[in-house]
Amino acid sequence: MLKPLCVLLPVFISFQSIAKNSQYEGFSYPNKAKNAISISFDDARHSQVDTGLALLDKYQVKATFYVSPFNVKERVEKWQMAVKSGHEIANHTTSHLCTGNFEWLRKQGVSLEQITLKDIEQDILKAQDYIKHTLGIEPTSFAYPCGNTFVGRGANTKSYVPVIAKHFKTGRTWLDETANNPNFTDFTQLTSLAIDGLTFEQIKTMLEQHRTNNSWIILAGHEVGKSSQYTTDSDALEKLIVYLQNPDNGFWLDTVSNVAKYVKANRQEID
Ligand SMILES: [Zn+2]
Repeated sequence: MLKPLCVLLPVFISFQSIAKNSQYEGFSYPNKAKNAISISFDDARHSQVDTGLALLDKYQVKATFYVSPFNVKERVEKWQMAVKSGHEIANHTTSHLCTGNFEWLRKQGVSLEQITLKDIEQDILKAQDYIKHTLGIEPTSFAYPCGNTFVGRGANTKSYVPVIAKHFKTGRTWLDETANNPNFTDFTQLTSLAIDGLTFEQIKTMLEQHRTNNSWIILAGHEVGKSSQYTTDSDALEKLIVYLQNPDNGFWLDTVSNVAKYVKANRQEID
């Protein structure tokens, strides 16, 4: 049986307004680029400064490094050089806190299922202090280890996104299926696409799939060297940089914080 029109009408009107407000609004980047793109690396793995830094600096590309202190400690001078070269250094927690499905975390009792919001805030601020004192900068960006954004489990699960919103301008997740819509994306849950183990051609195909609607694409890798599950292939990275720096390809390449700043200042927010 049909419902009376007076019941259906408000629902119809509200969907109409959602559809209107959700329409793509268009977005302009510097240098007439169609898309923004950021290259980021997680964990402060040694190969990032041993191998990756020289490659990035050769092309004067600025990347965003989400670092954890336990790795920085073993390459302090090289990380100080990364700061001097103008790369963005950002926070990735002190203890690389993520799900206890990783046994090494669960055994220490510090997996996200086992800790509280207060615990994770303290761990993040400890990393912030270390970076400030060792590298002389205060990170404004954060990457969620393993892309996990929660603490606790089941009915007691809590999101720690508000903790990131309190202390940082941006937060980045991992292994996402979308790029960021500049007019809509939540700066505390920016998406990223993994580049470890991919050839340049595979990365290019991925970019083509995600560059609709003037998206901002954030790439994320771990080691830099010979391609593997957690290693961004050096040759693929070099080809990618050359490709992104060619203005004909329509990308504006900059750090996560620099792009975020520009997007925030220029976007027409949609619901
Ligand atoms: Zn990580």
